[in-house]
Amino acid sequence: MASNNQNKPPVLSNNITKASPSSNKKKLGVDEVTCDKEQKFGAEKMVGTANNARIRQAFSVVNGIQDLGLSSNPASNAGSECGTIEFTREDVEALLSEKMRYKNKFNYKERCENMMDYIKRLRLCIKWFQELEGDYAFEHERLRNALELSEQKCAEMELALRNKEEELNLIIVELRKSFASLQEKLAKEESDKLVRGLDSEFNVAALDSLAREKETRLNMERSHASLSEDLGKAQEELQSANQRIASINDMYKLLQEYNSSLQHYNTKLQKDIDAAHESIKRGEKEKSAIVENLSTLRGQYKSLQEQLSTYKASQDEAMRQKDALVHEVASMRVELQQVRDDRDHQLSQVQALTAEVIKHKELAVSSEDLEARCASQSNQIRSLSDQLAAAEEKLEVSDLSALETKTEFEGQKKLINELRNHLEDAEYKLIEGEKLRKRLHNTILELKGNIRVFCRVRPLLPDDSSGSEGKLISYPTTTEALGRGIDIMQNGQKHSFSFDRVFMPDESQEDVFVEISQLVQSALDGYKVCIFAYGQTGSGKTYTMMGKPGHPDLKGLIPRSLEQIFQTRQSLLSQGWKYEMQVSMLEIYNETIRDLLSTNRDASRLENACNGKQYAIKHDASGNTHVTDLTVVDVCSTKEVSYLLDRAAHSRSVGKTQMNEQSSRSHFVFTLRISGLNESTEQQVQGILNLIDLAGSERLSKSGSTGDRLKETQAINKSLSSLSDVIFALAKKEKKEDHVPFRNSKLTYLLQPCLGGDSKTLMFVNISPEASSVGESLCSLRFAARVNACEIGTPRRQTSMRSSESRLSLG
Ligand code: ADP
Ligand code: MG
Repeated sequence: MASNNQNKPPVLSNNITKASPSSNKKKLGVDEVTCDKEQKFGAEKMVGTANNARIRQAFSVVNGIQDLGLSSNPASNAGSECGTIEFTREDVEALLSEKMRYKNKFNYKERCENMMDYIKRLRLCIKWFQELEGDYAFEHERLRNALELSEQKCAEMELALRNKEEELNLIIVELRKSFASLQEKLAKEESDKLVRGLDSEFNVAALDSLAREKETRLNMERSHASLSEDLGKAQEELQSANQRIASINDMYKLLQEYNSSLQHYNTKLQKDIDAAHESIKRGEKEKSAIVENLSTLRGQYKSLQEQLSTYKASQDEAMRQKDALVHEVASMRVELQQVRDDRDHQLSQVQALTAEVIKHKELAVSSEDLEARCASQSNQIRSLSDQLAAAEEKLEVSDLSALETKTEFEGQKKLINELRNHLEDAEYKLIEGEKLRKRLHNTILELKGNIRVFCRVRPLLPDDSSGSEGKLISYPTTTEALGRGIDIMQNGQKHSFSFDRVFMPDESQEDVFVEISQLVQSALDGYKVCIFAYGQTGSGKTYTMMGKPGHPDLKGLIPRSLEQIFQTRQSLLSQGWKYEMQVSMLEIYNETIRDLLSTNRDASRLENACNGKQYAIKHDASGNTHVTDLTVVDVCSTKEVSYLLDRAAHSRSVGKTQMNEQSSRSHFVFTLRISGLNESTEQQVQGILNLIDLAGSERLSKSGSTGDRLKETQAINKSLSSLSDVIFALAKKEKKEDHVPFRNSKLTYLLQPCLGGDSKTLMFVNISPEASSVGESLCSLRFAARVNACEIGTPRRQTSMRSSESRLSLG
């Protein structure tokens, strides 16, 4: 049982040992018991720890705590711990409430076996329970002993304490008595002292006794204190002892409860055992019945076995038959499949054959067509082969002809090349011819020596009074006079004139310029060129010279000439020619020169007006003209020139309401001085281009004018008559010394070098087609014819070598 002590008997002993192992050998002390009480409940909470597993198990039985699943299969634990099997309350209950269930109620053998197993388990349970009971009884006994012991101890302690208390009480009583006597004595002594205050000896003795009394009193007090301390201690001990007793009592009660529950459990188990015995008996009865049944069943089984064997034999036979049949079926199926395939094949063949039959029928029809077609096609083929033969023949022929054409082509090629060469030669010759023509033109002019005259008739303008132009002016169409003759009717009389060129009204500015371009060109070659426009007001002088402002197509001779000069200058650059150009523009109005390009006209006018030097015309030895104070502008592009022309036109119109009125009463002189230098040949040229828009020539009709108009008319008359005088004088001139009245007018004096024989002079006579202007027109034409007849000399080119002659001073 000692070995069981550690495992079985639950709780207390185990806990006690754990709490204080030293107390294991001696009897349980009061101290240990009190401690255990607390620890026991602590242990209860330590669920699942290895040490306390068993304790909890058993204790759960006691306390009725539901703790399932710790040892649900008691048999499995058998022999694992000290050869005993443990049960919990649940296990036991499960065991008791277990019911026998059978698949076959009459399987007595199985029932019997189960029963035996059940009985075995019940026995094991009972055995375990008995052991447990014994353990509990032992434990109970032990605890009771411990309780008695502690009670005894307690009683002893109480007794001892009571004795001590009595003793102490006695001492206290004694001490109180002595204290009272001492106080009495003290009182007595003090009264004595008062009575016998003067007796010193007695006093000394009394003081001594007093000191002694005090000492004894102190001693008494000390002993009293120690005794009261002892009493406190004893009381404390008593209290603790009482507490221990109370705790032990509690423990005892608890144990008693535990014991009673164990007893209760025991009785229950006893009942269970009885029930188990009864069931065993019943089981045995049933077993015997089952055994009987079994024997009868065995007989039945044997007969059934026999039947089974016969059935098996018959089944085997049937199986064999079935296999054979299956085999047969398979072979039949294969055959069937073959038959099916055959059938499908046959069907497809039938379909193909029917299709073929249809086709054949169709073919039979189409073959007839085909035969017919064949016949026609063979005919065609025959004809085609004939054609082919013919084509082949043709091809041969054409091959031959191709060869011929090829040779011809090559011949042509050669011819073309030759022609090309010829063309190049011709072009070269043409250029040469052009050069020659130029030279010849100049020689002709030189040989001719007269002033050339071009006539230009302007078209009728919408503003013009309607006149029968066709009747008044006509142009002869004879080959001789074509483009050179003009007939004008006046008073039924026809006057015929012929000039170097007559421009009809429909001829454009371009047509006019083409005719004079050669003349302009010669200015670059070093000639002095002078082009006048003569005619009555409104006949188209300004139109011819300047053109219509704002209409590029209607540009006049001046802008066109300048364009050409600048273009030629550019092309001559490659030949080494470099040109410098200077432009001046002036107006002669009432015999005074006005600078049209001057920017500070007033200042210079004021300065030179007083000494008469303003715009004085001077000619130097080399025949160059110079006008003092005249603005001369270097130009190198048409843009610059057109800007200057605009400026001049503006100056000319300043302060005047009717521009044509003003311009018709003044001569406009545009001068371009050209100085060229060829760097490679060291050749220098000096050319001058004068383009003059003269004042209106209708002087005769204006004879009746007065005032300013008279003055203007007189001035115009003077200058124009001077011009004609100069021209006629030049024509008549036989000797160099003969006088030419250049100085009679500013215009003639200014143009002296240009008119003096060595210049190329051209006059445009402008004619208005208006019927009212016929008289004036006739006058102009007569004047022009006289001019045209004049021979003024041979134009001379002004060229020099740089080394021999210094450059000219211009302006
Ligand atoms: P002028 O200068 O002689 O007084 P204009 O040159 O001013 O005369 O010409 C007078 C008018 O006749 C202008 O309106 C001008 O446009 C026009 N005119 C002159 N000649 C022609 C022509 N050949 N073709 C068309 N219109 C012309
Ligand atoms: Mg004019």
